Amino acid sequence: MSAIVIDGKAAAAALREEARQRTERLKERGVTPCLAVILVGEDPASLSYVTAKQKALAAAGMEGRDIRLSETTTEAQLLSLIASINADKSVHGILVQLPLPAHIREEAVITAIEPGKDVDCFHPVNVGKLLLGRPGFLPCTPHGVLDLLKGQNIPTKGAHAVVVGRSNIVGKPLAVLLARRELNATVTLCHTGTKDLPFHTRQADILIAAAGTPGLIKKDMIKKGAAVIDVGVNRVADTSARGYHLAGDVDFDGAAEAAGWITPVPGGVGPMTIAMLMRNVAQAAEERGGANGD
Ligand code: NAD
Repeated sequence: MSAIVIDGKAAAAALREEARQRTERLKERGVTPCLAVILVGEDPASLSYVTAKQKALAAAGMEGRDIRLSETTTEAQLLSLIASINADKSVHGILVQLPLPAHIREEAVITAIEPGKDVDCFHPVNVGKLLLGRPGFLPCTPHGVLDLLKGQNIPTKGAHAVVVGRSNIVGKPLAVLLARRELNATVTLCHTGTKDLPFHTRQADILIAAAGTPGLIKKDMIKKGAAVIDVGVNRVADTSARGYHLAGDVDFDGAAEAAGWITPVPGGVGPMTIAMLMRNVAQAAEERGGANGD
């Protein structure tokens, strides 16, 4: 293996410490940053994500409202709950854990969140600001990826960044952020309609895999010395007691022989996502101003 393995846990710990310090300063002003995390149903992966978020909030000294709703909650009930939290000045951020049960429209729910409390940066107003380069929240996973690149001094200016996956939460915003003037990368966005994916990935100085397909990116798809960031978190069934293991979108062992830098799964991008969420909650609380969120 020749690649530098990027330690997402260490980078995330530094970010979480920064969020803890911002929280301390807010508390001196009488403001305790507060995030409401809403989970509908009992999807095991979602349960583990909301638990991890509550733990991170507690560690940062923030307040976490842990709202668990049954699978049979109606869209109208969820929208009414969101309206009441929008109006609650002691709550600075609202996060609805996705995916939602099929009978609830994600779009309607995301749009119902007041943009100033949309710490996931999924609301159309915040996505619009992101596209226009206006100040506002940055989406957590893409921001985490950029922070990992910055932490390793991996140059983006003039670099060719290839993003595999065009989801609204990872691929698309990452492509937009990398193309911003301050990062100045040339971006190729690949997806299921891309012909000859290896042709594109081999051109990448920075290759970001966010496709949700385990082992998609192999050694022979990577330019020598490229930075390879693996966003994928996929549950692959096995014979272990747990019944599965986590795998990224990159075939790590092979890719590490070609890449200059690589992120592991777990322990790469994943911890950054939650750390960036803490940063956004601190930002929301700072922007909401005075004591008790007034
Ligand atoms: P998604 O599942 O909504 O969409 C996947 C995208 O990848 C689609 O745009 C599709 O066009 C593209 N794609 C799929 N297979 C492809 C292929 N063979 N070739 C080219 N393009 C292909 O995407 P998502 O929600 O961004 O999730 C992607 C992965 O990232 C998943 O494994 C998810 O679990 C993981 N994820 C991780 C974090 C984190 O914090 N680490 C956060 C969000 C998502």
